[in-house]
Amino acid sequence: MVLILLGPPGVGKGTQGALLCEERDWTRIATGDLLRAARREESELGRKAQEYMDAGNLVPDELIVAMVRERLEALPDDAGVVFDGFPRTLAQAEALERVLEETGRALDGVLLFEAPDEVLVRRISGRRHAPGSGRVYNVHFDPPETDGVCDETGEPLVHRSDDRPETVRHRLEVYRSSTAPLVQHYEEGPVPLVRIDGDRDMKSVKRSMLHAVEHLESDG
Ligand code: AMP
Repeated sequence: MVLILLGPPGVGKGTQGALLCEERDWTRIATGDLLRAARREESELGRKAQEYMDAGNLVPDELIVAMVRERLEALPDDAGVVFDGFPRTLAQAEALERVLEETGRALDGVLLFEAPDEVLVRRISGRRHAPGSGRVYNVHFDPPETDGVCDETGEPLVHRSDDRPETVRHRLEVYRSSTAPLVQHYEEGPVPLVRIDGDRDMKSVKRSMLHAVEHLESDG
């Protein structure tokens, strides 16, 4: 299976994508996580991406596509792949189609997660990350057992600098202008686009997602 998780920041793609990959033993390619790792390692890519990320703008397509290509080429041919936060522009979607073809893969479906803006802003403001374990908590809905530290690793949790309310609103605008056109692109394409109501508790969203994935699997 090759799936794309599409939807605005804060809708739950990261959380649900991680649950899906854990359940099926698939690989999640989350471009935001890869970029944050590159920044921590202070690689050239990390340095180039920094100012775009801090401002809530998109990192240039060529950097993103090269990064995704490298990840994809390193995977076994039969690995299940879930893209999270990619593609975010039409140019990235077209590049993905080429890279999939070149690596002998094909897209099976797109899951579109949706929620109202005020829900997204509230969720993102409560979001806290554990950089080492990659776990994401929410002080309102999914707090760690001990305030401010990761349940798994005990490391201190951080509030992403681009999760500040002003930057979040800008990221939502960027989503509307650059990424939302992908909905129509995939609706008109050859594989199913399934809408999932992301404005519900985590378990209900997970149930809908798994249901959608089972349908896609039985179609294939
Ligand atoms: P995310 O964790 O998916 O919300 O991504 C955080 C930030 O990383 C975004 O606001 C962008 O600056 C950058 N980013 C992540 N994925 C992409 C992508 N596919 N294209 C361009 N920029 C991206």
